[in-house]
Amino acid sequence: MAGPAFEKIAIMGAGLIGSSIAHAAREAGAARHVVLYDSSEDVRTRAAGLGLGDVVGTPAEACQDAGAIFLCVPVGAIAETTQAIAPHMSRGAILTDVGSVKESALSAMQDHCPAGVHLIPGHPIAGTEKSGPEAGFATLFRNAWHILTPLPAQEETYNSAVDRLAGFWEMLGAKVEIMDAARHDRVLAITSHLPHLIAYNIVSTAYDMESVGEGEVVKYSAGGFRDFTRIAASDPVMWRDVFLNNKDAVLETLGRFSEDLAALQRAIRWGDGDTLMREFERARGIRKAIIEAGQDSAVANFGRNSDETET
Ligand code: NAP
Repeated sequence: MAGPAFEKIAIMGAGLIGSSIAHAAREAGAARHVVLYDSSEDVRTRAAGLGLGDVVGTPAEACQDAGAIFLCVPVGAIAETTQAIAPHMSRGAILTDVGSVKESALSAMQDHCPAGVHLIPGHPIAGTEKSGPEAGFATLFRNAWHILTPLPAQEETYNSAVDRLAGFWEMLGAKVEIMDAARHDRVLAITSHLPHLIAYNIVSTAYDMESVGEGEVVKYSAGGFRDFTRIAASDPVMWRDVFLNNKDAVLETLGRFSEDLAALQRAIRWGDGDTLMREFERARGIRKAIIEAGQDSAVANFGRNSDETET
């Protein structure tokens, strides 16, 4: 069996993603020593009781001699976290992140990353609506895509660092894809960010209706609405930062979405059943393609238990 990808990894932010990396790395033997730091003392105390690895009290202790440092904090906290660890990273170490937006994460890290550290941004296309150290689990990344957005045209040592980081994620069960950061942000705007915005919006509309109605929205909520409430239960800080940091791509996608929604509105108003049928059939085809690509299951309730993956 191959040995660990890294002797020591440091995980900054012991929430859902950070604690899942710790569980998965330990289970797969992908790192000999897993060290975690979180800015919240309460999170550190809770994480210490979960057998995730060594939970330490300072960024310096976490990063000292670490072969790879994983920033698992909200996108808006990446700059200050990089600044805090900059003096403590070893030459030749890899600095990566898991942020859901890649161009702004890259520039936040670039601003503070010292020379000699290999900066390789990343994003696991896996998650749940839960947060905190208790929410993590070892199989989160299994069969999920992990997108790396490395810097273009670097020297050989950088390229071998990218291979090493990709190997680490593969040991955790992920399928690694290399992509340009701007392209990542455009793709994720439609596949993840806009669906979350719509979920927040539909739940908020229902909430307002509920407050004038008599409890029917909750009482008669059917599958479609319940799925939206699950997505809308996602961490507000994380999603605030996603929208603030992927502003252009989200606004562009939202513009297209609004036009298409207006077309459906017009079809309903004018009784244009053909247009509705055409659009609904097309959407059904996309669902079929997602199932055939192994990105979801055709079984009831999307094959999910209540704690299954999304994002
Ligand atoms: P989470 O469960 O809320 O965990 C984030 C943790 O980071 C919290 O414990 C938070 O502490 C801590 N933190 C905040 N600022 C920090 C700092 N400056 N230094 C150290 N720790 C700090 O969030 P998550 O879901 O794991 O998300 C983490 C990252 O993963 C985000 O960038 C998100 O975009 C990305 N991501 C999330 C998902 C998902 O489905 N959730 C999927 C893919 C990628 P406090 O709670 O005290 O602030």
